[in-house]
Amino acid sequence: MNDRYIMIHYGELGTKGNNKKAFVAQLNKNIRHALKNFDVNVTYDHDHTFVDFSGEAEPIISRLKDVSGIQRISLVYKLPRDLEILKQKSLELIKEAEGKTFKVEAKRTDKTYPLSSPEIERAIASIILKNTSFKVDVHNPDIKVFVQMRNDASYVYLNTVSGAGGYPLGMNGKVLMLLSGGIDSPVASYLLLRRGIKIECLHFASPPYTSTAVIDKLEDIIGKLSYYQEDIKLHIVPFTKLQEEIYNHVDEPYCITIMRRMMVRIASIYAKKTNCLAIATGESVGQVASQTLNSIQVINSVTNFPILRPLCTLDKLDIIKISKQIGTYDISIRPHEDCCTIFAPKKPKTKPKEEECLYYEKRFDYETFVNECVENIETIQFKSGEKVE
Ligand code: ATP
Ligand code: MG
Repeated sequence: MNDRYIMIHYGELGTKGNNKKAFVAQLNKNIRHALKNFDVNVTYDHDHTFVDFSGEAEPIISRLKDVSGIQRISLVYKLPRDLEILKQKSLELIKEAEGKTFKVEAKRTDKTYPLSSPEIERAIASIILKNTSFKVDVHNPDIKVFVQMRNDASYVYLNTVSGAGGYPLGMNGKVLMLLSGGIDSPVASYLLLRRGIKIECLHFASPPYTSTAVIDKLEDIIGKLSYYQEDIKLHIVPFTKLQEEIYNHVDEPYCITIMRRMMVRIASIYAKKTNCLAIATGESVGQVASQTLNSIQVINSVTNFPILRPLCTLDKLDIIKISKQIGTYDISIRPHEDCCTIFAPKKPKTKPKEEECLYYEKRFDYETFVNECVENIETIQFKSGEKVE
């Protein structure tokens, strides 16, 4: 017996008490889904998931790194409960590892095993010290050798790989993500997904001012996001009429603020309809005129729905870095017209006032247009990045 397994350590789930069972079940459902293209057998207990596999471990570990709710991932070796075999395997593994210092951490879940954990640790450390140039460092070792003595077998593994952390997707409800074709909102979507929050996407389109090229971009972006969430809905709001009304009735410096207030009104109504518990955007404080705290306050005040802004404190360079990492950057920078940029005023208000907004909004019957937008939303359903007709 000398089997390799991938062992998955649960993340913050550990603290979830009574909910733990549901969390573990959801996580394992997500793990099975993520590994559907691999030849694996997934089993789990209260504390760990074991992935039995053949072939290379690396592609599987790399896929698992993006599954939210996983704290750590280790390639473990299952051995007979024989200290000699355990010592030899530990030695063999550390010889292949890079570093100068090590520490052994033993855990004995089978309390009837004759040696205590410190005794097992000492036995393994001494064979490593005798046969390699590794030195012991208990505080900050380069390599940790983990061994477990369980009822059925013994296990040994070296350093573990960090997982995505967070919660399993589906355990934290769903939000309505305002998705533009830009750089920021796909990154915000990704951060929510990594946290275990499901998304549905809402896009404001203003044809003929905006072209269908935006929708092509969004489809490609959703293709990337579907790596984290298999089924994604894209809701498209026909925004043209309302936008024209705004520009016919509102003085230029207030156009963007009023437009965003309308977006939030529409999103709030639609979030309720789709059972989303919050709205989310790719806004980052101070990035542009409509994202100063003053603007955010005035835009936010039209709803009592929570608006999540995962990028709120991030620097543009950090956002770009993440967008490159998740593969949306090259899609986002493809040129397109956005409803925000088309009508962008030369001098937008950076400190808009609520009273002024109310004054402009009295000039036209915006509610009718808002409701019309909501009624005419069209939905495209995606599965694994492909449109479902
Ligand atoms: P992004 O790169 O996400 O477009 P941005 O820096 O260009 O962001 P804005 O265009 O001001 O900033 O948009 C701020 C946020 O408002 C976006 O991140 C997105 O959540 C939302 N938003 C903007 N335009 C649209 C749109 N046409 N449809 C849906 N949401 C939008
Ligand atoms: Mg934009």
